[in-house]
Amino acid sequence: HEVDVAGLIATAVERNAVDAEVRGIEVATRTDDQVYVLGEGEQLLQAVNNLVENAIAYSEVGTKVTVDAAQVGGEVRIAVRDQGIGIGQAEIDRIFERFYRVDPARARSTGGTGLGLSIVKHVAASHAGTVEVWSQPGQGSSFTLVLPAAARTDDPDDFEAPPVPTASSVPAQEA
Ligand code: ATP
Ligand code: MG
Repeated sequence: HEVDVAGLIATAVERNAVDAEVRGIEVATRTDDQVYVLGEGEQLLQAVNNLVENAIAYSEVGTKVTVDAAQVGGEVRIAVRDQGIGIGQAEIDRIFERFYRVDPARARSTGGTGLGLSIVKHVAASHAGTVEVWSQPGQGSSFTLVLPAAARTDDPDDFEAPPVPTASSVPAQEA
């Protein structure tokens, strides 16, 4: 299915609105219209949701989370940035492992199990995409989901030619 990225992000942010409010974190989105990826809407929503959820969970009150999406060439880049606690260089290679949590004592208060990012990685891989991460302890983190773009409906050049109908798909016509 063709999944509208702006809609995906709006839904993910909406799902986390109460958490953001409670934690005193402002979530801002900047998304281009008519950016699409091919895939499973529910899975893609779960991936974006997990990144937004983390950005809010691992940030301090009064900080900002931004979710940006844009198409760059044939890629859709969905970037979730926070000004939170960050992740050390030693831990960053392990955060995508199932059940891995940097600081279980602290992370326990977020009530998680350490599966969120392993799901993000799995969803990215199953959509021929990747996850890029940048983080600096005490400064914040940025997770970017990179996925192949589906054709943009606003640019006729990006349209693939429709498939040639096969005999079985052509409705029978009266003579
Ligand atoms: P779950 O997502 O299953 O509820 P979780 O958030 O602990 O639990 P992941 O989402 O997989 O699990 O994240 C793994 C660990 O990576 C977290 O416990 C946390 O230590 C660290 N982490 C993830 N995202 C961020 C972030 N935006 N800022 C700082 N640390 C993060
Ligand atoms: Mg998580």
